[in-house]
Amino acid sequence: MADLLQLLASSPTAFIVTLSVFGLLVGSFLNVVIYRLPLMMERAWRTECAAFDQTEPTPDARDEVFNLVRPRSRCPHCAAAISAFDNIPLVSWLLLGGRCRHCRTAIPLRYPLVECCAGVLAGLAAWRFGFGPFALLAAGVSWTLLALAVIDYDTQLLPDDLTLPLLWAGLAVNLGGGLVGLQAAVIGAMAGYLSLWSVYWAFRLATGKEGMGYGDFKLLAALGAWLGWAALPGIIIGAALVGALVGLMLIGLGRHARGKPIPFGPFLAAAGWIQLLWGNVVQDLLLGTFVR
Ligand SMILES: [Zn+2]
Repeated sequence: MADLLQLLASSPTAFIVTLSVFGLLVGSFLNVVIYRLPLMMERAWRTECAAFDQTEPTPDARDEVFNLVRPRSRCPHCAAAISAFDNIPLVSWLLLGGRCRHCRTAIPLRYPLVECCAGVLAGLAAWRFGFGPFALLAAGVSWTLLALAVIDYDTQLLPDDLTLPLLWAGLAVNLGGGLVGLQAAVIGAMAGYLSLWSVYWAFRLATGKEGMGYGDFKLLAALGAWLGWAALPGIIIGAALVGALVGLMLIGLGRHARGKPIPFGPFLAAAGWIQLLWGNVVQDLLLGTFVR
């Protein structure tokens, strides 16, 4: 173990490769989180509704345990359990030709893509921060942001079960002298929440529509807690610009109905991730553009 740590500390390449491979494994777990967390929320919500109405919960909310660990992964088409050998990130998907071993139904490309992304994000964190705790922390933040972005894209939800722990973790890390001072982190969390909350209410009072959700405020609060208040303008401007561009492109291509909401979470997550890795570059760019 000591030898391994010494190798990772002395060779940046070994560290990048190791963290990338570990990222692939985490990506496999993220697929489970992305698929099950919204379903778990829905079940919990329906059980609460039933308790409130004093009616019987729906059958699927009553039967077997359903969480991130149980039941074991199975093919959604033929319900065959997926063996450990068929669950190796990326490799199994390639070996199986992207199909279920039992019923040959196509496994969506999304699964290996999420695994790949988780691996690449971890590798970039290792490359940017080098051997040490910051690379691991950055990888952890990156994976959480990836899960949040995909869940928001799928369901237009940013689960509290991910945004709030991310927020507390950011404050805790900066309490111990992490990325920014504690004061900058606390102000970052408050300003992150309040800034989008104000935009939400301004937009709602002006148009009568909801432009985003409370999950977006919590996500930006979490990013503020990690990166400090000074990172917020870059994140908001970046996310809004790219979000508007993508929205216009989708409408232009006829792929998106005007007026239908586009989730903002993926853009916030992406802009926050760029700030995490290259915050100094972004801030120099912004200062160079607006303050002359
Ligand atoms: Zn199958």
